[in-house]
Order: sequence, then structure tokens, then C-alpha cells
Amino acid sequence: MQTKLIIHPDEMSKQWVDVAKKNNIDVIGIHSVGNVNAHINLKNDLDLFQTKQYKSAVDYANLSGIKVEYEIHAVSYLLPRELFLTHPEYFRADENGVRMQNLNFCASNAEALEIIANNAVTLAEKLYGSTNNYFFWTDDIKNSYCKCEKCKNFSPSDQNLILMNAIIKKMREKDKNAKIAFLAYYDTVNLPKKVTPEKGVFLEYAPYERDLYAPASAVGEKEVELIKKLIEFFGKENSCVLEYWYDNSYFSGYKKPPKKLVVNNSIIKEDVQFYLNLGFENVSSFACFLGQDYRELYGEPDFSALKK
Ligand SMILES: [Zn+2]
Repeated sequence: MQTKLIIHPDEMSKQWVDVAKKNNIDVIGIHSVGNVNAHINLKNDLDLFQTKQYKSAVDYANLSGIKVEYEIHAVSYLLPRELFLTHPEYFRADENGVRMQNLNFCASNAEALEIIANNAVTLAEKLYGSTNNYFFWTDDIKNSYCKCEKCKNFSPSDQNLILMNAIIKKMREKDKNAKIAFLAYYDTVNLPKKVTPEKGVFLEYAPYERDLYAPASAVGEKEVELIKKLIEFFGKENSCVLEYWYDNSYFSGYKKPPKKLVVNNSIIKEDVQFYLNLGFENVSSFACFLGQDYRELYGEPDFSALKK
């Protein structure tokens, strides 16, 4: 099992690396803030990734044996929104067939897929110190997938997989070991029905809609069956769960100052076992809003439940 904690770019620091090291965390994930401004946030973060301070924190992580990966809602960045003016057909259609400039893409437009895939290759090169596991997620606003004549029979999960397939095929032309996550979450949590994964696509399952105050095993039989089917469909290799155990941005209502994080170590340990028993290889959790400002207010968060 590999453990990963996911933090915001401006929280990345040598202190964070030390905390990860102390708790035997294998990977630090860097997550740009999502929502409707995800593409703007990512643009700003790409500048941050070039700074000396950021790079030295990433170097310090890698030298300490801790890998760095990037988990980003990237589609609005990868398909520049300005293209709508000349090529509205690259963009999603709403239920009335009207093309929309914001959020996601048209999964039936080959040129749009090509542009996104090419830009993904370029983006990958800008992610300082990254492994070759990539997490370029679609936009996560509910009901934001294409409903054009050609796409309407493809579910959000199908559309997500069409895109991940297009990206990984392009990436593997340069790096045959590149891998990309299919994020099963929210509108894309269900099994794709009309598309099968290309080589290099792996499952990342995020139970965003579960009761985060109850054990993961309380999700119910239907969800457990779905998880099993997802693992069967995508395979166990590289599969990971993306949890919210330490997501202090969530528990702080996405507003600073951060609240004090309450962790329930026995539930987290039980959850980890639950996921491993289902077949996941790796576990990760958001751990945003636990940076320097948090440490000054409350001291170091307790990640001991993930210690192996
Ligand atoms: Zn479409």
C-alpha cells in the first residue's frame, strides 16, 4: 500500500515534507483549488511551481524518498475557453443543445480531444518533480457534461473515459510508462458503459457523497457493489481511493482561518482496511488547510492512523 496526502500548492513546504516523512507518507499530492475558476487557479499555480522556494521543497521531498504528484481539475485549462469564440463545437452542449463556454468539453469532437491531449502533454512537463502518474480531472460541477446529439447517449463516466483514453494515448507516445487516473466521483462515479479503458488508465475512487462522519463501510451494499465493479472494470493495478479524512478545507467550509481538525484514528484505520479488502492498492486523502497557518494555530495534525 502506498499512502498519499493531498495539499494545496501554497502549502507545500519543507515542514510539510518533514511531517510526511515522520508519518511514512509515500506521496505528497499537489491540488489546485477546483470550482468554476479551476483554469485560472491552475495558471497561477503554474507560476508558483517555477519559484525557487517551491522547487526546493519538491526537491527536498524527492531527496527524502517522498514522491510528488499533481491532482487537478484541468479540463477548462486544457481546452482554453477563448477557443469558444471560433470553435463552439469543441465545447459541451446543454440540454437544449446550446454550446456552453464554461466547464468541460464535447466528447464527440475529435479536434477538441486532440487539443486537450496535446495540452496535457505540455502541462505534464510543467508539473515540477512529478512522477509519471497523472491526475487531470474533468470539471466537477454537477451536470456539466455534453448533451449534444452525438454525446447524449454517453454518460458522464463514458465522456470522462473517452477523454482520459485520448490523453493517455498521446502521453504514451512520449513516455510509455505514463499513467492517468479515471476519477470516479460525483457525476462520474458510475461504471462507464460504452467505453473501455486504454492501457495506462487506472481507477481513482473518491467517495465525496458519503457521510464523512461515519465509517466508509457504512456506504451501503449498493455502493460496495459499485466499488467492486469499478475495480473489476479498471483493474487493481495502481487503483487508489481518494478520501477526505484530513480534508480540513472541507471541514473548515472552504474558508480560512482553518478550523481545528478532529481525526478519528480508529475509524480511519478501519476505513483503510475496508478499502484494502475491497481490492484497492493505495489510499490517499485530501489534507488541505493544514499548512503553516494551521500549525501556528493548532500544532501538527495527527496522521498516525496511516502509519504502516
Ligand atoms: Zn458533444
